[in-house]
Amino acid sequence: MSRIVMKFGGTSVADLDRIRNVARRVARAAAAGHEVAVVVSAMSGVTNQLVGWCQALSPLHDAREYDAVVATGEQVTAGLVAIALQELGVEARSWQGWQIPLLTDGAHGRARIDRIDGAALIARMQNGQVPVIAGFQGLGPDHRVTTLGRGGSDTSAVELAAAIGADRCDIYTDVDGIYTTDPRIVPKARRLPRIAYEEMLELASVGAKVLQTRSVELAMKERVRVQVLSSFAEAEGCDLPGSLVVDEDEILEKEIVAGIAYSRDEAKMTVKRVPDRPGIAAAIFGPLSEAGINVDMIVQNVSDDGTTDMTFTLGRSDLARARQTLAAQQGQIGFADLVSDAQVAKISVVGVGMRSHAGVAATMFRTLAERSINIQVISTSEIKVSVLIGADYTELAVRALHTAYGLDAA
Ligand code: ASP
Ligand code: MG
Repeated sequence: MSRIVMKFGGTSVADLDRIRNVARRVARAAAAGHEVAVVVSAMSGVTNQLVGWCQALSPLHDAREYDAVVATGEQVTAGLVAIALQELGVEARSWQGWQIPLLTDGAHGRARIDRIDGAALIARMQNGQVPVIAGFQGLGPDHRVTTLGRGGSDTSAVELAAAIGADRCDIYTDVDGIYTTDPRIVPKARRLPRIAYEEMLELASVGAKVLQTRSVELAMKERVRVQVLSSFAEAEGCDLPGSLVVDEDEILEKEIVAGIAYSRDEAKMTVKRVPDRPGIAAAIFGPLSEAGINVDMIVQNVSDDGTTDMTFTLGRSDLARARQTLAAQQGQIGFADLVSDAQVAKISVVGVGMRSHAGVAATMFRTLAERSINIQVISTSEIKVSVLIGADYTELAVRALHTAYGLDAA
């Protein structure tokens, strides 16, 4: 018998039939003697619609009211799943963030969880009750509802699993696990039975969208075993195997490269001909960070006339704001021109095996060169190499790299 958190994403609760299906899965786990806590997302499309309504009324709407609106999606599904469970004879009860309470900081729209008191939940579970918890939402220090940022119900689930000392946090979604790359691009992509926290964290942060990045960060810190599995596929009333996100030591057959991710949400900006002097990077990136703009890869080229071109990448949706921010500083920074390109993609190869194996980056560069794909920017970390290329080459690059690292399924 174990204690499990079962989290269901938006597509898994998209309509009443799927909600009944979720209830059957939960009932089965409860009948097997497990202590189960359920975390749910809003029905798919609902959060987008709620966000859209806020934006339509006011592009610069109050963040507290945004939270009041968007948190409702999860409230609905929590109640519906509890009803569906009761229909199956399971003693279930829905819980909103404030009722638990799941306490967060005051950063409305992107709050971080401070503390969850797990004791009351555990007591209920031990008495045979199944709590159905609205994901994505909490209670701020101002006693108002907060939300955790898009995709935040993954984080709710992992944080709850840590708070109640769960043996596992199962994330049910519309894919049956973590793949070596996006199977829509590479049909020969393979499901990874196990992946290390570090790898998952890097993959999530560079574009793999299965888990919210912060939830992986948290799982790694709290040592929560996370399993990603499909809420659609099942065989003979059993879940199909998914992917387990675990400590590196639990993975016996380590590949050098675990996976390849891509992101088309990138843009590149070059600040042309800035004076090459101490403080210039601070003068450029300080104002960007104050404007809340995240910069990712950075390269600097020095020419012999004492000026330098500073190129960096950022989220495509931040491009206009970055341009505005830097243009306002042109006098202080002293650049000649700002050039940007949104037709770029970032391709990353990730694997803990890189720590002990040389040549991973070289293989990447050679593979791309053989396809005549130009590399515009490069960045590396201990277990990741990322390159920026023209967006049109995304598929070609991902396929070629998948083959080059021996990841294709037989
Ligand atoms: N419903 C929220 C969103 O779409 C939270 C989640 O699904 O994780 O971002
Ligand atoms: Mg999600």
